[in-house]
Amino acid sequence: MSAKASYDYGLDMLVFAAHPDDAEIGMGGTIAKSIRDGLKVGLIDLTYAEMSSNGDVDTRQREAREASAVLGLTVRENLGLPDRGLRLEASQVDKLVSAIRRYRPRNVFAPYYIDRHPDHVKCSRMVEEAVFNAKLRRYKPDEPAWTADMLYFYFINDVHAPQLVLDVTDVHEQKMKALRAYRSQFEPSGDQQDWVQTPLTQGYLDNVIARDRLFGQPKRFAYAEGFIPKGPVAIDGF
Ligand SMILES: [Zn+2]
Repeated sequence: MSAKASYDYGLDMLVFAAHPDDAEIGMGGTIAKSIRDGLKVGLIDLTYAEMSSNGDVDTRQREAREASAVLGLTVRENLGLPDRGLRLEASQVDKLVSAIRRYRPRNVFAPYYIDRHPDHVKCSRMVEEAVFNAKLRRYKPDEPAWTADMLYFYFINDVHAPQLVLDVTDVHEQKMKALRAYRSQFEPSGDQQDWVQTPLTQGYLDNVIARDRLFGQPKRFAYAEGFIPKGPVAIDGF
C-alpha cells in the first residue's frame, strides 16, 4: 500500500458494499486491523438488502450496527438505493460521487467485478465510475472534486487470485464476531417462521474462513484477505 499522503484527506479508507455484510465478508479483518492501527475507516452500503430471502430491513440494520461496533467503524452510511435495482446511471452513481467528495478518502474499496451476485458486479462498476467522476472539477462543480489515491477490489462470493494479501490472523476472531452479528443471514434457524435455506445458511461462514486460510497460505499467514488494485501500486523502492 502506498505511503500516507500529505494532502488533506478525510478518511484513510472508504469501503463500498451493495448490502450490509458484503464488506465484512470480504475485508472485515482488514477493516478491524486498519482501525486498530489508527486509520479512519468508513463503510457505505448502497442498499438495505430489502430483497434478502431472510431477515427484514430493521433486523439487518440492527445487525449492521452491531457489526460496525465490533469493527469500530468511524462512519457507516446507507445510500438507500434499491436492492436488485442498482443501475449504472447518473441518478444513482452521483450519490456515490457525493459520498467520495464528502469523505475525501485516500483509498476506496469496491466489490470485485466478477461475482455470482449481479448487484455486487453492479456496485463494483458504480464505484469505479464514481471514483472517476469525483475527481473531475467540472462534474457537478458545486461539490469540491476529490481524487482518491487508489481503488482496490475485495472478494465477496467467489475466489479469484488476489494480487495483494493482508495478514489478518490477529484480528480474525474480531472479523468472525462481526459476521456472526448478521444472525438473520448466516444462522441455520429453520425452526423460525418465514425462513428459507439459502447458500448463506449452509456453512457460508466456514467457506469465508476457508478462503481466508487459502489466501494466507502462500505467505504462511494463518488468515489473510485478498485484494486486486485498479492500476499499478507505487512503491518507494526495493
Ligand atoms: Zn451482497
